[in-house]
Amino acid sequence: MLHTNLGRALLPDEAVHAVVRALAAPVNLEFDLATGGRGDRDALVEQLICELTGAEAATVVNNNAAAVLLLLNTLANRREVIVSRGELVEIGGAFRIPDVMRSAGAKLIEVGTTNRTHARDYADAIGSRTALVMKVHTSNYAITGFTAHVDTTELAAIAHAHGLPLAVDLGSGSLLDLATLGLPAEPVARDVLAAGADLVAFSGDKLLGGPQAGVLAGRAELIAKLKKNPLKRALRVGKLALAALEAVLALYRAPEFLAGRLPTLRLLMRPDATIEALAQRLLPVVRNTLGARYDVMVAPMQSQIGSGALPTERLASFGFAIRARKVQRGSLDRLDASLRRLPRPILGRIADKTLWLDLRCLEAADEAEFVAQWSQLSA
Ligand SMILES: *Cc1c(COP(=O)(O)O)cnc(C)c1O
Repeated sequence: MLHTNLGRALLPDEAVHAVVRALAAPVNLEFDLATGGRGDRDALVEQLICELTGAEAATVVNNNAAAVLLLLNTLANRREVIVSRGELVEIGGAFRIPDVMRSAGAKLIEVGTTNRTHARDYADAIGSRTALVMKVHTSNYAITGFTAHVDTTELAAIAHAHGLPLAVDLGSGSLLDLATLGLPAEPVARDVLAAGADLVAFSGDKLLGGPQAGVLAGRAELIAKLKKNPLKRALRVGKLALAALEAVLALYRAPEFLAGRLPTLRLLMRPDATIEALAQRLLPVVRNTLGARYDVMVAPMQSQIGSGALPTERLASFGFAIRARKVQRGSLDRLDASLRRLPRPILGRIADKTLWLDLRCLEAADEAEFVAQWSQLSA
């Protein structure tokens, strides 16, 4: 659903229109219309982020990796940062917590063990060189079994008792409690700040459903420091991302309409019965195109959310399960490749000698085009 290799979140119409406007006309990006003087690039989205998270202040950079780099470099350059060994995440690409620490000039102090970290592990590690206590969301794995971790409230109390800030890398993060919508829960920025975190960082294009961006929200004094770091200038977002982010955040002001307007949420909440009905409707198209060489069936399958959101959760979905009638070597791979070569590529995945096409993300607006693609298939 939120595939990094496929550009992650799909933007709502409101954001698309805002981007088009910002492309073609001047915008008050860093211009204060009230005073006629220079303005702050973050001002518009900062207000919205504060309203939606309860933070005193906020800023936005190019992505969440940049947000983490900026916060570490600003608050902990040449000093120590304490992180649990259970949270030394590798997100993919070159983003690994120990490496980002090094790039930011901070010294990582690992505490606890892979499966269990206790309050006293943090408390014992705090010393005169400590700048920050940090918590990192284990976005793409789960540690289960004999485990222990320190929650945000307790960890904030430990940090604050030593006069230190607590920063939380939420990864995907969320601006609303998905559990209230019957979805698997992901940490909510507002709750984490209310629990005592001084700074949170999260992505704009994961569960939030916006453009690529990294949001930093929290205490005004810390955000002011981040804004003064020259790195902030190097990591800043452009006007297109800001226009899109502002439009998406504005939708969160009316959460009752969000599921209808924000594609990420709409796709997450799509009932599997709706997807099954769609699959049944399109089945003849796929069957007729593939002819006698393939068996095509409507089958239940599991959608993965992706992009480090809810790593162990799956959403019940439906789609096509395609198998070659005569097991011929490579025939499924050839079909998969042909689907990828279509003018509008169709992407599935091969497992258990079956090509699975999950229809969760095929919405009404694209249905006709999906049908048109099959008539162009030359398998
Ligand atoms: C995804 C993620 C990041 C990186 O965010 P990007 O927006 O992809 O740069 C950093 N930390 C955690 C925990 C993540 O899940």
